[in-house]
Amino acid sequence: MGEAGKVIAGGTEVVIYLKTRRISPKYLIDISDLKELEYIKENEEFLSVGSLSTHSTIEKSPLIKKRAHILGDSASQIGTIQIRNMGTIGGNLANASPAADTATPLLALGASLELMGTSGKRVVPIETFFIHVNKTILQSNELLTEIQIPYPPPNTGAAFMKIGRRAAHDLSIVNVATTVTVTEDVCKNICIALGSVAPTPIRAKKAEAFLKEKTLEKATIKKASEIALEEIQPISDVRASANYRKEVSKVLVRMTIQKAIDEIER
Ligand SMILES: Cc1cc2nc3c(=O)[nH]c(=O)nc-3n(C[C@H](O)[C@H](O)[C@H](O)COP(=O)(O)OP(=O)(O)OC[C@H]3O[C@@H](n4cnc5c(N)ncnc54)[C@H](O)[C@@H]3O)c2cc1C
Repeated sequence: MGEAGKVIAGGTEVVIYLKTRRISPKYLIDISDLKELEYIKENEEFLSVGSLSTHSTIEKSPLIKKRAHILGDSASQIGTIQIRNMGTIGGNLANASPAADTATPLLALGASLELMGTSGKRVVPIETFFIHVNKTILQSNELLTEIQIPYPPPNTGAAFMKIGRRAAHDLSIVNVATTVTVTEDVCKNICIALGSVAPTPIRAKKAEAFLKEKTLEKATIKKASEIALEEIQPISDVRASANYRKEVSKVLVRMTIQKAIDEIER
């Protein structure tokens, strides 16, 4: 498709960019009719989600509820029903907003992305996908075709939480997704992902390292949420101040860890 073309899927972002003249591509490449990219299916080792799956489909999918409920939880809080009916997971990721709500659950779940172009197919960890605000590793001749979500090991809990200007249905001021695996009261693995607090969605790796092989007492979790603050670089914008984002990040990291642990114990 080259530099002159712009892919349009659900169009919830692209149409705004066109109307505000933020972009003026020579060609629009409408992929919304590629029904073969609209699926959610189980494989042996991972769940495959076609990139044209809409947020509404993901929110309601029994397979997502069973295998990756935090992705469904995030999809259900995106925009309004109209946005969720039109907007796709591929568009949400390829647009690379720091606030993209599906990015943090996928980071926490250790997902990979299948990118397909004229020179073939590659599968990359989602962690390597985002480069900067609205910038990814996608080449101009590539499409994001599939999201692959590995099945979590036993004794794993997960939680997603978002704060927007309204209770939900608005871009995140901060969103956090956490997955945690606990064996005999000890944290064996943890992934904490934060959105809208840095140029790209990020993992709080220092906080994760601090928690590994520890018993997840309240004080330990609180300390980890403070460590996570060292890893974010929030900005002040129309939606919130940097300081507010820091405070909310601390609270959401703590709450998602606790909620994920509670899910294992249930
Ligand atoms: C009122 C409103 C509220 C919103 N609320 C939220 C919210 O709460 N949370 C949130 O995360 N987002 C929100 N959004 C943003 C947006 O709706 C989502 O990011 C949506 O998922 C984008 O998907 P789309 O299919 O509409 O993408 P499009 O607009 O079609 O495309 C977006 C970008 O991705 C590229 N692209 C699309 N699909 C592919 C593909 N398969 N391969 C390669 N490139 C591709 C396009 O070229 C473009 O650059 C909101 C938007 C609006 C207008």
